[in-house]
Amino acid sequence: MTAVHSTRMLILGSGPAGLSAAIYGARAGLAPIVVQGIQPGGQLTTTTDVENYPGFRHVIQGPWLMEEMQAQAEHVGAQMMWDTIVDVDLSQRPFKLTGDGGAIYMCDTLVIATGAQAKWLGLESEQKLRGQGVSACATCDGFFFRGKKVAVIGGGNTAVEEALYLTNHSHDVTIIHRRDSFRAEKILQERLFKHHGIKVIWDTEVAEFVAGEGNEGLIALDLRNVKTGETSRLDVEGGFVAIGHHPATELFVGKIDLDRDGYMKVTPGTSLTNVPGVFACGDVMDKIYRQAITAAGTGCMAALDAERFLQEQDYPVPEDAEKVAAE
Ligand code: NDP
Repeated sequence: MTAVHSTRMLILGSGPAGLSAAIYGARAGLAPIVVQGIQPGGQLTTTTDVENYPGFRHVIQGPWLMEEMQAQAEHVGAQMMWDTIVDVDLSQRPFKLTGDGGAIYMCDTLVIATGAQAKWLGLESEQKLRGQGVSACATCDGFFFRGKKVAVIGGGNTAVEEALYLTNHSHDVTIIHRRDSFRAEKILQERLFKHHGIKVIWDTEVAEFVAGEGNEGLIALDLRNVKTGETSRLDVEGGFVAIGHHPATELFVGKIDLDRDGYMKVTPGTSLTNVPGVFACGDVMDKIYRQAITAAGTGCMAALDAERFLQEQDYPVPEDAEKVAAE
């Protein structure tokens, strides 16, 4: 028999955004259901040390933080479902979503917190050295490379911003870009070119991330000039891959307004999508900050926006209000 779950608030995704929405939604009495998705806990479950989440003086572990958030959400009344949504019908409320095992979820409000995944170059050595010198987030991990040589790969806004950010920690930052011009905004490029601590290597791709002996982690990048084929080695201890992200929005194409990069569009300063009753939070709608704390903050916003939406829906419309008053 097909299982049917009905809820006032369905949350898709169980990273900091989804779980923060769950905590706030549960505490508002909405008994939210969280569909955890294929990576319960989200991107932080693949991170090790976290030093920038407020409230923890000492280093904490990403997976531990997510376990605590989930336990807190469950403690206040959110229900976790180990499922992945494969179909969405937003044409009428309650919305109807289908899980990959066939379970049906009916909901009055939907909070989308499905996140985004960093794009990687796809090299085996890159995957091997993730967390040991190779990262996709300078804001998260730059601090661990204080005083060390680092490189950023990419030529968009993220790469340029990450290179500039890394100069807070390192006097030796190199950007490696596969073409001879950046696609980043001009103002960011100007800032970068003026900076004495940043070198640029054009027309070049990373052929290999080189590991040191034993547990040494990343020690160098093997590079290849795409025009001349010339190879070279760049000694670095940190390699930041900044070649874009995939927001997890495939399910919503044609159903909710997305921007040209595939991110959920929201009314600025809110979590409201163009579909009344559907809210978006976390990395699925944020291509600028992408931090656990900003995701948690927008998760809170989504729960509050959903709660307000339900209140507005449940309040009698003016004529009904008069009728109610006359009775
Ligand atoms: P982008 O898609 O804009 O840029 C990705 C960069 O990586 C490009 O330079 C691309 O090269 C390069 N690249 C892609 N694949 C590879 C590969 N396999 N090997 C080597 N290089 C590769 O991603 P961003 O993350 O920079 O930005 C995404 C969106 O977010 C953009 O709309 C951006 O404007 C926005 N953003 C805005 C910010 C802000 O307003 N402060 C901050 C960060 C992002 P090529 O140029 O040759 O295609």
